[in-house]
Amino acid sequence: MTYLPLRCAVAIALVSACLPFPCFAQSPPGPGVGYTTTPMLPGGKWRVHDQHRPRPTVVTPGASVGLPPSDATVLFDGQSLDAWKKSGTDSEKAPWVIRDGAMEVVPNSGTLESKESFGDMQLHIEWATPEKVEGNSQGRGNSGVIIMGRYEIQVLDSYNNDTYADGQAASIYGQFPPQVNVTNPPGQWNVYDIIFEAPRFEGDKLVKPARSTVIHNGVLVQNAREHIGPMNHQDVSPYTPHPSTGPIVLQDHGNPTRFKNIWVRSLREEVDPWIVMPGASDASLPGKGKKVVLVSGDEEYRSEEALPMLAKILSEQHGFDCVVLFAINPDTQTVDPNYSSNIPGLHHLDDADAMIMATRFRALPDWQMAHFEKFVSEGKPLASLRTSTHPFNFSGQKTSYQNWSWNSQDWPGGFGQQIIGETWHSHHGVHNGEATRGVINEDAKSDPILNGVKDVFGPSDVYGVVHLPSTAKVLLLGQVVKGMKPTDPPVEGDKNSPMMPLAWTKDYQYDNGPKGKVFCTTMGAAVDFLNEDLRRLIVNATYWMTGLEDKIPEQASVQVSENYKPSYFGFRDAKFFSSKKIRPVDLIPK
Ligand code: MG
Repeated sequence: MTYLPLRCAVAIALVSACLPFPCFAQSPPGPGVGYTTTPMLPGGKWRVHDQHRPRPTVVTPGASVGLPPSDATVLFDGQSLDAWKKSGTDSEKAPWVIRDGAMEVVPNSGTLESKESFGDMQLHIEWATPEKVEGNSQGRGNSGVIIMGRYEIQVLDSYNNDTYADGQAASIYGQFPPQVNVTNPPGQWNVYDIIFEAPRFEGDKLVKPARSTVIHNGVLVQNAREHIGPMNHQDVSPYTPHPSTGPIVLQDHGNPTRFKNIWVRSLREEVDPWIVMPGASDASLPGKGKKVVLVSGDEEYRSEEALPMLAKILSEQHGFDCVVLFAINPDTQTVDPNYSSNIPGLHHLDDADAMIMATRFRALPDWQMAHFEKFVSEGKPLASLRTSTHPFNFSGQKTSYQNWSWNSQDWPGGFGQQIIGETWHSHHGVHNGEATRGVINEDAKSDPILNGVKDVFGPSDVYGVVHLPSTAKVLLLGQVVKGMKPTDPPVEGDKNSPMMPLAWTKDYQYDNGPKGKVFCTTMGAAVDFLNEDLRRLIVNATYWMTGLEDKIPEQASVQVSENYKPSYFGFRDAKFFSSKKIRPVDLIPK
């Protein structure tokens, strides 16, 4: 079957400027587009023509082949050397010159390196040796493209110029000659398209060597060739461990060689932008066979750090199959909680037994929202942490889910108030000034969700809760504390009299479907979960959601890795996530 991708090039180009709008960087899977019952492809991840398989990101090609496509990093466009510096120095100025739109080596001024670092890449670079032929062998138009500052693809005037084979143009210098010599005459432009895979190390050990494919003037001359080690002259160097990215280095070998049209595309690892954590193999663990999907995506309370930690506890210590989803910038496929219109992997909700959500003000496209709707239409159980009382915000946007907005009038308070029991109302305690202690509601103290839960405390403040229906069962009340320390006393007066609900359970019903159950706590900053009993509350609630109420342990195991060092809550600017390039897998506490 054929499929016309939704081309949204303008939206992609504006992607960073249009955060509040749903930009379909990936074309939406829709009804009839793809299949859900075809055989699994070998490898077991996707079905043949899988409806849910993410669509490739739309990239606008260069105006002609060889010009940078829209997702390339341009290192030289004929105008400026700003992307370059003198190698091995902090100097901001590159000592070469620009002439006729090309950068030219100023002999003996120094080798250049890109200011930005790259690992696996597609590199396009054009070069020309001096028209006036001087010298011979390695002395004629010598330069080099030295990837990661270590792995050299030789640049040389190899037109009617004899030199040793592993040192001519397009050789992996000192190791492998090119398959053929297609070098243009001196003064004319040559084109390299290089696909480079960085070596991989585990500790001190090399587990995969560097590999280069080189196309020279349109001709394949190095075919997935494994480097023996870093470049050396008159010797062989072994691999030594180095970072996963490094600069692109252009060599000053004393000849005025020229370069132009340099661009690079970082190659994506083909990994899903979510985390799958199968339950531990011990068949006696109560959670075996139950699937829990944890949905992060809030700008402030670092749910992208908290949920992988909770999933690790639920899977390793209780046997639940867990999937953790994230707000993902589709351009980089990395985690960006400020990117409010994309959470890939929501199709995992379709066969989930329970959901734990910690989203805030998301504006997801309809095709992603449809998975939430299916979930609640079937009355499946869900838990809401902290900001997930106001999980969606579609203000001013065209969507079928306008009513789900936190401030909806038509369906008052939207998804939060209608399903979870409250929408965003207020900070009741002073934000970042008055911490929260969880006080057990005497009327609910025998509820098994409170098994082993005695001392809940966290630095996030008590939320104002005013819409909770009387049918909800309040488990914990939120005591506002006078400061931020567990030893600080309760605030006196009205704030704690009465106390706000802090954790509750209730039923919900969506669109006359079957009844479902909800657990909610308005605590849930990543730092709150340093508190053992708060972690236990969530684990117990997961048992309750998945029909394992009578198996809730008296004192559920909630051991957390000492490497769980959550960031304190607060907003982060766009630059933070675009520069950090956090992959979901990086967020699993080791
Ligand atoms: Mg060289």
